Amino acid sequence: MQKGKIFVVGFGPGDREHITKRAVDALQQSNHIMGYKTYVDLIRHFVTAQTIVSTGMTEEVSRAQEAVKQAEAGNIVAVISSGDAGVYGMAGLVYEVLIEKGWTEATGIEVEVVPGISAINSCASLLGAPVMHDSCTISLSDHLTPWTVIEKRIEAAAMADFVIAFYNPKSGRRTRQIVEAQRILLKYRSPETPVGLVKSAYRDSQNIVLTNLAEMLEHDIGMLTTVIVGNSSTFFYDNKIITPRGYQRKYTLGDDKQIWKPHQRLKKEAEPWALDQETGEAKSGFEKIEAIKAAQAVQRQVEENVEKKTSLEMARLALACITKEPVKGDFLVQQAIESIFEFAVSPGVANKFITPKQMQILAEVVGENGTLEYTPDHRFHVKIPTEHPEAIVEQLRESGLYVLPMGDVFNLKACDFCYGEKAESIPYAEEIMDALGGMKLPKELHVGFNGCGMACYRAVFDDIGIVYRKKKFDLFIGAKPVGRTAHAAQPVAEGLEPDALIPLLTQIIEEYKEHAHPNERLFKYFKRVKKIAHFTYQDMSCKIKVEEAPCGD
Ligand code: SAH
Repeated sequence: MQKGKIFVVGFGPGDREHITKRAVDALQQSNHIMGYKTYVDLIRHFVTAQTIVSTGMTEEVSRAQEAVKQAEAGNIVAVISSGDAGVYGMAGLVYEVLIEKGWTEATGIEVEVVPGISAINSCASLLGAPVMHDSCTISLSDHLTPWTVIEKRIEAAAMADFVIAFYNPKSGRRTRQIVEAQRILLKYRSPETPVGLVKSAYRDSQNIVLTNLAEMLEHDIGMLTTVIVGNSSTFFYDNKIITPRGYQRKYTLGDDKQIWKPHQRLKKEAEPWALDQETGEAKSGFEKIEAIKAAQAVQRQVEENVEKKTSLEMARLALACITKEPVKGDFLVQQAIESIFEFAVSPGVANKFITPKQMQILAEVVGENGTLEYTPDHRFHVKIPTEHPEAIVEQLRESGLYVLPMGDVFNLKACDFCYGEKAESIPYAEEIMDALGGMKLPKELHVGFNGCGMACYRAVFDDIGIVYRKKKFDLFIGAKPVGRTAHAAQPVAEGLEPDALIPLLTQIIEEYKEHAHPNERLFKYFKRVKKIAHFTYQDMSCKIKVEEAPCGD
């Protein structure tokens, strides 16, 4: 007899486009299809003459038992679930029935769980990007789970600032759960927290509502709705609900657009989720009313209970009166948006000496929470959480330190000019830095500037090498400074007149900036296009045949 098999198939939200190929194959291979009536109707067009057993919603256990029985009799059976079969679906039940019968993978019938797009994903896609960060799903059905457990999970998720997708939010009979869920959420989240209600995602009767935590119950919520509640940083934008990827922003120096400048951050339009962090004041009329109510409740509690309390409890009550927080310890979760300011510091273009005073200022600026990393290109890479990048730059520059942008920008590293003994060309290095330093480019670009033919700071191993020799310049382009195929730059010009240097360099940089692919280093660009300015590419990579090493014992 043919050995039977059970496919537990998640068919996605319910349209033809969002079901997987494997799910369709499984349905077509099966000679028994079993599922809840509404679901069977949604996939009927994928199957032809098989036996279709549709059952009622609550007959899940008997459906699983029947499926196992049929598979044991040698049939190929598909048990279907909407979304993903492993998310409040049939997969667990099928395994439970099998386990009860002593099933093992080695001896029993074959089982394949076919994954599908769950409601949290299909509904999120219709709302914009509300999930994005740490999230959870909570089913509000207390059919198989005690309400006390569900309540605890809502509380924990609310407290931990998870984005939450509520499945089974409400049915004709079960109407209290979503009201209770809202009440618990409001203890920790602002009433303005974005909420999306998606009914029948990707089905004919699809309906999408954007609302907030305070007003969500004023809209229709039913058996086919998924309720997605944002976290403390979720915001609305142009009829979409967006949760940012994290709670950190980066400031960088030298960007064309500094989206997160502090004065802009404080504007409502720029970061609606981060409002009023400065004042800590209640944000809305609703919240103010709530705060007043809470304070009044506290007052009443004090008046009624003062004589029955321990001193610690009385102190807590008194404190609560001042802070106007409800005594239960309820509080709004507001994960602060932290801004990280990232930049590089060095003592100067040619100067390699950093003074103790400068070190002290740098240490103060970095403080307890910043990081200071010494990099291979002779500078410190600094990261500081701050709201005031301008003040930091000013303080460091006042102490004579060079503050430079990080990332895909023009960098210049000069030698020490033999501690200033060969200082003749320093002004040229400074002029280059003034003209091009910090310019945004497709990829980080390092220019090595060396003050004599020794080139001991290895200018010829940089993206662009400039070597001052006999009052003129030699120019090198396109080293590959790292990796197993590292090679020096191609010498392209010798004895350039000083006046010609900056115009030529500018031309090279502008060509590269305009025509290189994002992330394409200069050597790769030169190799691809074969020409920069009037210079033709020559292969500088080493093509020596390497013997394979004999194997040791
Ligand atoms: N296995 C399913 C969930 C079944 S529980 C999945 O992974 O998606 C049933 C709940 O799922 C419904 O109450 C609703 O909250 C949600 N749901 C399922 N399909 C949906 C759809 N197309 N649109 C919106 N919500 C849906």
